[in-house]
Amino acid sequence: MVKIGVLGLQGAVREHVRSIEACDAEAVVIKKTEQLAHIDGLIIPGGESTTMRRLMDKYGFIEPLKQFARDGKPMFGTCAGLIILAKKIVGYDEAHLGLMDITVERNSFGRQRESFEASLSIKGVADDFIGVFIRAPHIVSVGSDVDVLATYEDRIVAARQGQFLGCSFHPELTDDHRMTQYFINMVKETKV
Ligand code: GLN
Repeated sequence: MVKIGVLGLQGAVREHVRSIEACDAEAVVIKKTEQLAHIDGLIIPGGESTTMRRLMDKYGFIEPLKQFARDGKPMFGTCAGLIILAKKIVGYDEAHLGLMDITVERNSFGRQRESFEASLSIKGVADDFIGVFIRAPHIVSVGSDVDVLATYEDRIVAARQGQFLGCSFHPELTDDHRMTQYFINMVKETKV
């Protein structure tokens, strides 16, 4: 059985664990860098990216996570996790992990729409996926080897670049586990 880690410093950790388990994979909450050696793929959850970054610095996660990526292990960032994965963040000089060749903009759906749900067509995942957006970022632009998987109102809300998967919304907050399953399949393919 593949082991999927969920970075457990801050944010919607338990919900991802539930979704992974619903897909019959093993979930491991990652609180220490040593645990990274024992998992096959990692989900970076939604939450608050600046707080998460502060905790990643405090517990020494930045370099070990970059190494995890260099080892070819799949990583999936949702909402704040997407911001953590991105190479560029609009309005900021520095990225966090800077792994995925995308530019993101934080809180980009406006105040009136702080949170909402929308039906999405996600390439390779589903034609009718309910995306839960909470103060969500969107992907402003992508590099040439990034595959856009979903858009909403002309904004990119899900993308994949090889081992990296990212989305603006929270796939773990509904009982539809197809996006989590898509990531688990990526992990299984890598492991073979
Ligand atoms: N707006 C948050 C941030 O910038 C992300 C929100 C979320 O993860 N639900 O970190």
